[in-house]
Amino acid sequence: MSKFDFAPMPDKEGFFGHYGGQILPPELKKVMDDIDRAYEEIRHTESFKTELMQLNQDYVGRPSPIYHAKRLSEKLGGAQIYLKREDLNHTGAHKINHCLGEALLAKFMGKKKVIAETGAGQHGVALATACALVGIPCEIHMGQVDIEKEHPNVTKMKILGCKLIPVTRGTATLKDAVDSAFEEYLKNPEEFIYAIGSVVGPHPFPKMVRDFQSIIGREARQQFNDRHGKNPDIITACVGGGSNAMGLFTAFLNDDEVKIVGVEPAGKGLDTKDHSATLTLGTPGEIHGFKCYVLQDENGEPLPVHSIASGLDYPGVGPQHCYLKDIERVEYQSVTDDECLDAFMTLSQVEGIIPALESAHAVAWAMREAPKLGKDKTILVNLSGRGDKDADYVATKLGL
Ligand SMILES: *Cc1c(COP(=O)(O)O)cnc(C)c1O
Repeated sequence: MSKFDFAPMPDKEGFFGHYGGQILPPELKKVMDDIDRAYEEIRHTESFKTELMQLNQDYVGRPSPIYHAKRLSEKLGGAQIYLKREDLNHTGAHKINHCLGEALLAKFMGKKKVIAETGAGQHGVALATACALVGIPCEIHMGQVDIEKEHPNVTKMKILGCKLIPVTRGTATLKDAVDSAFEEYLKNPEEFIYAIGSVVGPHPFPKMVRDFQSIIGREARQQFNDRHGKNPDIITACVGGGSNAMGLFTAFLNDDEVKIVGVEPAGKGLDTKDHSATLTLGTPGEIHGFKCYVLQDENGEPLPVHSIASGLDYPGVGPQHCYLKDIERVEYQSVTDDECLDAFMTLSQVEGIIPALESAHAVAWAMREAPKLGKDKTILVNLSGRGDKDADYVATKLGL
């Protein structure tokens, strides 16, 4: 019996302890409740379950394998490192897992347009893909800074037929894209649906996105146990909003013997202003319609944040992570841009796997931890995505 009991999370109002909920005007609360009702209805229907399962298998390519990174483990001389290969999914990251679910839900609810923001462009590409598949119009808002940094994803979104809206206000990054997309959504929330790209935003999104992503951990737990007859000693994933991490962690929460570590971006250092380590240095507050740890100024305004990985630079974080931190079920650590780059190059050259800069944060933490542990110990890293999108940026940065 676990000392934790996670089954009924969140509660009916969408709270994970003190975090989550719906901080919204009444009209919007009603729209969110409609989404929750539709979701709770279809998730149990055979036709929805079968369609999603078939698409996961034949379209996404699931189950994604777990891979023993032998050369990397040997080089580090300690714990054995395993990778859950979400980078091998169609569109190259874990985001397709929840985008398919959201697009199917939009179709079921008869919505006319799917709206979203994107940071690194991964959510945008995954959502544009899912919308093309389902046959529903899609509009993506993206910060101008990210548009310049993530050019290949921008091109893909256009090819996939979505409408791309560049956002130049503020720091022209993820947070501003969220604001812009949300304004468009407010023009007609009855007929539009906002497809949130992580386990953030008002209830039911943290729950829904987690549920769609939790296939990662269910597969990984089964795969690891089939091979080893037990769970990994440690599991880890990078945390931006926290969807790939919740996706991996959920199946293991009641396994008390498994140490769980979320890895945040320390950017240029936790002692600078240029980081995005929300759980490490933030304080409880509100952002984008829900309660969570926030990197905020004294007036409760979100601070500008930084990470070398566009997909991780968000000043809030998923409410369930906040709860898991407070009850000490999950430990949150951070790695810097430099450590991330080092892990990016090392994994590429030792294993022939180019990771996304986001995922390289989790790899970097495993590389730091493995040498401290015995060779009989195991660390399972969620490799949330592949690094093709980051290759040009890294090459320029390192003068390759
Ligand atoms: C978007 C993204 C992330 C960060 O999002 P989470 O919701 O924290 O998972 C991590 N890895 C990749 C590859 C991404 O595209």
